[in-house]
Amino acid sequence: MSENNKVVKSEQEWQKELTPEQYEVCRRKGTEMPFSGRYNKCKDAGMYRCACCGQPLFSSASKFDSGTGWPSFFEPERAAAVRTEVDDSLFGRPRTEVLCSACDAHLGHVFPDGPAPTGLRYCINSVALYLEKDQ
Ligand code: FE
Repeated sequence: MSENNKVVKSEQEWQKELTPEQYEVCRRKGTEMPFSGRYNKCKDAGMYRCACCGQPLFSSASKFDSGTGWPSFFEPERAAAVRTEVDDSLFGRPRTEVLCSACDAHLGHVFPDGPAPTGLRYCINSVALYLEKDQ
């Protein structure tokens, strides 16, 4: 999906298309309960796509077990697949929010305590993703 190919929908359209949990996380920047998501422990090979627009976001090859209770990746599929913003919603604990670059879905946060080769930990909500398994 090119950068010119932005997916823009009204809140009403998103609300109609998504499950209540997806809407809360992806469009209202919520967070699923740790260890609750269906991809937390998933080791299947494939491509994790955006639950809202289908853009490929993270390969299973970059997934690792962070022990945090959320699916964790050390890098996105392509740098341009995600964008980041400063999130000041937790007082005194600024975080870096990760969003889908195509539809602006809130995906999770990225932290500088991940494994090699990037040292990054993309901490992503399961409900913001769907896994397209390798054939
Ligand atoms: Fe998206």
